[in-house]
Amino acid sequence: MNKPKNKPKPKGKVPSLIGGKNGRPKRVAVGKESKCYRCKAIFQKGQTCVAIPQTGYSFSTAKRVCDECFQSILEQTDKDLEEIRKL
Ligand SMILES: [Zn+2]
Repeated sequence: MNKPKNKPKPKGKVPSLIGGKNGRPKRVAVGKESKCYRCKAIFQKGQTCVAIPQTGYSFSTAKRVCDECFQSILEQTDKDLEEIRKL
């Protein structure tokens, strides 16, 4: 690690590749009957699911996924991150 002394320090909050201005996925309670956008499993009232915010939209249009689909999305995110780390 050879840091030049005159290198300017980055200012402000460190940005993240996930969880931008739209926020990051969060667990939400299912208010009314809805379904997983991937596997179309019906969520029962009182159940929880994971809401994934869509780029450019508000949280009200967040896609909802069941736990199972969220796991596979996480795995894919891991793979993508691994690719990004090679940059
Ligand atoms: Zn699902």
